[in-house]
Amino acid sequence: MSRLVVVSNRTATPGAPRSGGLATALHDALAESGGLWFGWSGQTVEASDEKLAHAAEDDYAFALLDLTEADYEGYYLGYSNAALWPVLHYRVDLARFDDEAFAQYDRVNARFARLLAPLMRDDDTVWVHDYHLMLLGRELRAAGWRGPTGFFLHIPFPSPEVFTALPQHAEIAEALAAFDLVGFQTAHDAENFRRYLAEQHAATPLADGVVHAFGTVLRAAAFPIGIDPDSVSAAAADWRSHPDLARLARGIGEDALVVGVDRLDYSKGLPQRLEAFGQLIAADAALHARVSLVQIAPPSRTEVEAYADLREQVDRIAGRINSDHADLGWIPVRYIAREYPRDKLAGLYRLARVGLVTPLRDGMNLVAKEFVAAQDPGDPGVLIVSEPAGAAEQLEEAVQVNPYDIAAVTDALRSALEMPHGERSARWQALRARVWREDVGWWWRGYLDALRATR
Ligand code: ADP
Repeated sequence: MSRLVVVSNRTATPGAPRSGGLATALHDALAESGGLWFGWSGQTVEASDEKLAHAAEDDYAFALLDLTEADYEGYYLGYSNAALWPVLHYRVDLARFDDEAFAQYDRVNARFARLLAPLMRDDDTVWVHDYHLMLLGRELRAAGWRGPTGFFLHIPFPSPEVFTALPQHAEIAEALAAFDLVGFQTAHDAENFRRYLAEQHAATPLADGVVHAFGTVLRAAAFPIGIDPDSVSAAAADWRSHPDLARLARGIGEDALVVGVDRLDYSKGLPQRLEAFGQLIAADAALHARVSLVQIAPPSRTEVEAYADLREQVDRIAGRINSDHADLGWIPVRYIAREYPRDKLAGLYRLARVGLVTPLRDGMNLVAKEFVAAQDPGDPGVLIVSEPAGAAEQLEEAVQVNPYDIAAVTDALRSALEMPHGERSARWQALRARVWREDVGWWWRGYLDALRATR
């Protein structure tokens, strides 16, 4: 089997325990075929010396480059997180377009290719990840690389009307056409990309997601990412080993717990979700001291302006709900702006009657799948998921809502809290089957088989 070369902005930390789902997935893929994981070291330096740091795991190697401070500003904060992230999440209103940031993005993609090309072997397979590296296929081809090369977009691909707001949309699309396979989280995202190519670049659709565009042929298809449900389930069953979860369980007793877990990001719909919970308890005094919300939302990307504004807004709404409704023996909202170990989050999902996952837009949303995997088979909780989350395409039996419609989220909460055991169980069995069948191994094997089949 050919060697796998994975390229992503951040990699797992060589030699350290792998914590994230993606880090574990890519580790397994690399361990199976051997190869190389290439990415940014996480370090910024004043001036780049064009040197790579090398490290090795048992079955594969790491090669890591440093970014300069200017790269970090322009490529990472400026273009990736202040232009691509908002536009691809349909938030053109929050995007900042800056030609110099794009130029830096372009230069960093070119540097990735320049430093990677000498490490490649003729029969390698290359798999590039996510929106930071959309130009890398073009740069590798320019460096003479001809082998199978795929890209996977972890975040949404918007409708063409939104994507064309990006001043560099045509250049990015043409660069994506240098890949053999462009993978998306949902069929809807893949269709958006093919429709964009047809409308803007007169692309011709062929069978099976294959498109003829920019004088070449590429395939655009969906590969929804999964989780490792067995590990989440085992961690969840062990919730009593965390003293604070045991204390929380004693405190809530027979009352219902609603749980939300997100990075603090404007794509996650946190203000709307908190308002919906506030309206639920404002409208129904019988729920007072009977239901509470735990919302975990650690700040992220604090250097990007839109995130600081969001933090203030969420703080304000959570504070208002508590000051309006709390009582000496009841705090309606426990809002915690902190990260938690994954095992403890799994235990928290297990204690919840309702998992409230209502992003305004999300590539996949792994929390939704983790919530399903964490439930007690004898007494499962109810998952509420918003329609614009990628996960909604697979998790059909969840209660689905429009996250902008606060009254609808309030209604969904009420019906989830009242849902009889039989219906909860039937929905969960169906969700469980899907989450276990379409797990993370299914995702990366499916992607790599499809990539190798493009040749
Ligand atoms: P995103 O990639 O946009 O952050 P996802 O829901 O797809 O959203 O993935 C988030 C991942 O990060 C999940 O695996 C989740 O368990 C984890 N996570 C979310 N919030 C926290 C937190 N407060 N502490 C630790 N991990 C978290």
